[in-house]
Amino acid sequence: MALRIHDIQLPDNVPELLLEKHADYIISCAEKSDDDFQAIMTEHMRMSAIYWGLTALDLMDQLHRADKEKILKLIKDCQYECGGIGAFHGHDPHVLHTLSAIQILCLFDALDTIDIEKVICYLKERQEPDGSFTGDKWGEVDTRFSFCTVASLALLGRLDVIDVEGAVRFICKCMNFDGGFGPRPDSESHAGMIYCCVGTLSILGQLHHLDVGKLGWWLCERQLPSGGLNGRPEKLPDVCYSWWVLSSMKILNLIHWIDKERLIKFILACQDTDTGGFSDRPGDMADPFHTLFGLGAMSMLGASDSLKEINPTFCMPEYVIQRLGLEPERLDR
Ligand SMILES: [Zn+2]
Repeated sequence: MALRIHDIQLPDNVPELLLEKHADYIISCAEKSDDDFQAIMTEHMRMSAIYWGLTALDLMDQLHRADKEKILKLIKDCQYECGGIGAFHGHDPHVLHTLSAIQILCLFDALDTIDIEKVICYLKERQEPDGSFTGDKWGEVDTRFSFCTVASLALLGRLDVIDVEGAVRFICKCMNFDGGFGPRPDSESHAGMIYCCVGTLSILGQLHHLDVGKLGWWLCERQLPSGGLNGRPEKLPDVCYSWWVLSSMKILNLIHWIDKERLIKFILACQDTDTGGFSDRPGDMADPFHTLFGLGAMSMLGASDSLKEINPTFCMPEYVIQRLGLEPERLDR
C-alpha cells in the first residue's frame, strides 16, 4: 500500500515576485484604523504584527514609508512598570511582545525610546532556577521563551544578567532522539521550536551541543513533493516553515540539502496577486506573518537581488545585526 503524503498541488503558472504589491499590502495593513474590526481582533498580537510588517518593509528597502513616530509612541505606552512590554494598550506584558518591541526599536535605531534598565530587570526575572524561561508572570515555560529572552538581551547587549550555562542546559534537555527540539523536555520535535533552540544556541555560541547530522536530516525531510516545507511529519506545507526550517538549516550551513528551485516556486505560488502579501498556502488569505516569512526565505535563498540580506538567527536585516556588533554563531563561519 502506498503511503499517502499530505501535500498540495501547485498551480501550473506561478507569478513573479511582486515586491511593489507586497510593500503596498503592508502599508495598507498599517493604515487600518484602531477601531476597524480586523484591527480589534488582532490587538492581542499587534506588537509582533508591527515587527513582521516593518521587517518585511525593510527587506524591500521601504522602511521609510512606515509611521515611525506613531510606532515609537505605541511602544513607549505599552511598557509597564515591571519593565515588560504588552502587545497593545491594555494587554499584559509578555516576552513575545517585548522581543518584538526591541526588534522594532533596533530597526529604527531608537532603543532609548523605552526604559532599558527596567526591561532588562523584567527579562532577567523570567529565568527559573533550572535555566528555563517563563513567558510572563503566570509562569508557563517554553523553549520559545528561552529564545525571546536570550535574543532580547543579546540585542540590548546584556546577556550577562542571566545564567547562560543554565539556559543552555535547559535547551539541551529539550533535545529529542531525532536531533530536534520541542517546547519542553520529552515533547515532540517541531520546526518552530527547533528554530528557537538552534537560535538560542547560535546567540550563545553553543552550536556544538547539536547533533547536526540527525537534525539536518529531520529538517530536510520537511520538504514535500510540492516544494513547500511542513513543520512536522504528516502536516501540510506552509510558507512560515520556509522560515523556521530554512533559517535553522542556514545556521547549520545545510541549506544545499533543500531543493531551492522547488521551494522558491512554492513560495511564489503563495502570493496574493490582487492584494499583495503572502498566505500560508496558495489561494488562502494573505497576512503580515506569512509575508515576512515568505520574503525572509526568499532572501535566504538568494531568489531576488532586490531583497536585503536577512540574519537567520534574529530574523532581522543583516545590516541591523552588524550595526549592533552582534555575531551569532553559524557553522559556515
Ligand atoms: Zn504558517
